[in-house]
Parts: sequence; structure tokens; C-alpha cells
Amino acid sequence: MTDLIKKTVLYLSKYLGLFYLAKLHYRNRIRILCYHGFSIRNEELFVPGLFIKPDIFDQRMKYLKDKNFNVISLEEAYQSARENRIEENSVVITIDDGFYSTYSNALPVFKKYDLPSTLYVTSYYFDKDSPIFTLGVNYMFFNSSKSVFDLSKLGIEGLATVTRGAPNFEQARLTITETGQAYETNEERVELLRKLGVATGQDYEDLNKSRILNLINKEELQECAANGMDIELHTHRHRFPTDAEDAAEEIAKNRAKIDPLLPKPMSHFCYPSGEWSEAHWEILDDQDIKTSTTCDNGLITPETPFHAWSRFLDSARISQIEYESELCGFTEFLRKLRGR
Ligand SMILES: [Zn+2]
Repeated sequence: MTDLIKKTVLYLSKYLGLFYLAKLHYRNRIRILCYHGFSIRNEELFVPGLFIKPDIFDQRMKYLKDKNFNVISLEEAYQSARENRIEENSVVITIDDGFYSTYSNALPVFKKYDLPSTLYVTSYYFDKDSPIFTLGVNYMFFNSSKSVFDLSKLGIEGLATVTRGAPNFEQARLTITETGQAYETNEERVELLRKLGVATGQDYEDLNKSRILNLINKEELQECAANGMDIELHTHRHRFPTDAEDAAEEIAKNRAKIDPLLPKPMSHFCYPSGEWSEAHWEILDDQDIKTSTTCDNGLITPETPFHAWSRFLDSARISQIEYESELCGFTEFLRKLRGR
């Protein structure tokens, strides 16, 4: 379906009363919303699926209030599903990763509408004064006004001058990313970003100071936690291998860094990048984790496995009508119709 046809079908369905009927039909299921970052500059143009503009986010939260959705904490959702007493129109709001903008742009909106939320924090870049490296590389490639980059001074063998649109342009970005990821220390990665800034005509310090690609620090985390945000697990390095020992280590490191800062221990989990398999479930049970959320679409019933709780990823890619359709359950109805 093209975007226009899709939206037309949704608008028609809404005005024919099908959204209303879907909301009634799916009233006893939990909807979980998922956000990542909130634009401070132009991040929603950089990765539309990862960021959302603050005014749109405000509109989305206002909609929940206006339409009397029952916004509850993840823990309440877990208890209600476990005891088979899910309340009507329950919604859980989750945010992944812990971008600085969660604190600067989302927290004020949650406070304004008095909404509980859950923040899954990954800990490697937490409280570090530097952008997430891979996003930093991508952003510099995206945001540069130059069309030719001289990459010869990056200290990476084989890299020379590349031109936007040429086949080696994308390859150069990948080479820089892989080289930096293989570095032992974050200082080396920062140095590489600094050099890439020079090559692409941008100031690394400016990017770092804007904090658009940085995570929150300790004080900001604690302020989030003190203002109705539950802080939960998302691994240390944003990776969750199926090897039990490696996976347990990712959770242990995540816990060790974040738990001491919180009023209550973390007990819920979010799969990094939404990559999950049933092979993870035993590991998660061993870690006493109550729920694990994915990036798959779907509403939650008491029968949904606790380590496969699906969510709806809201972002700059999603229009208001798609958002409304997902929340009322009409999109779920369409998914069932298509047999998915
Ligand atoms: Zn994540």
C-alpha cells in the first residue's frame, strides 16, 4: 500500500467508526509505546525512525490524556497481566537507550501530563562526555554541507578523498565505523570523530556540547527516576548474545553501573535493537527479569510470553492517524486480517 492509500483507508475507517469499535474490541489489551530520542536540532531528519520532534511528542502524550487512555507503569502492566486483570485501554510508555533528550525534552512532557514511563538505559555511553560513536560517524556524514571529504588524515589505511554519491562514499563510512568499533578505548574513538569533524567541515566539540547523540549522566538519571520514570535494563554495550555467559555479563555490567543510583532495583528488560529469540528466555529467567520488550508490533494479553512483549515504535516516521490507529487497536485488527 502506498502511504497515501494507507492514510486514506485509516481516515475513512476512523470516520466510519471502526477505530471506536477496535478500541472497544481490544480494550483489555496492553499497548506499549516505544520512543528513542527527541530532537534538539534536526535529528528527526537524520534518523526519522529513531527521533521525534518534541512538539509532535507533546501532541501524542496529550492525545493519551484527551482520549482517556489508562497510562500505567510497566510494573503495573506486568502485575495486571500476571493476575489476568488488565484494565481497559492500558498503555505503557517506554523509552530506549537514555539519550540526553529523554531528560531535556521528554521528562518535562511527562511531568506536564503526569504520565508514568519506563526508561531502558544502556550503560557503556551512560555518564560519558561523548556521543555514541556509530551515530557520531553517521551524523557527520549526514550533516556535512561538503560534497567532497578528504579522509586521508584519519589514520585509516586506504581512505583518501571521497565524493558524496560515489560508490566508495558509503564504504568509507563503514570503514570508519568498523575501525572505531575495534579500538580499545573510547578516547581513540573520540579522536577519530574529531578528525572526521575536520575532514567534513564540522566541529566535534560543538556536536559533543549539543549532546544530541550523548546519553544522560548520573544526576539526570536520578532526576528522571525521582520524577516518575522507572529505570530498567538494556544491556551494557547494547548487545545481547545468545551465549548465556556473554548475555549474563551484559546484564550484570548494566546492573552494576545503574542499580546503585536507583531507589529500587531494575527488574525489567528491553532487547537491544529488538533482536531476540526464545534461546534468551532461560537467561532472562535466571536473572529474575519479569518482562522483556521487543520491537515487534502487537498488543499484549495475559497469554503473551513475558519475554516477548511487543511494542509500537513511534517516531518522526509515524503520522498522527497511524498512531491513533495503533493505539485503538485498528492496526492490530489489520495485522490479524493479513494473518500475521
Ligand atoms: Zn536500544
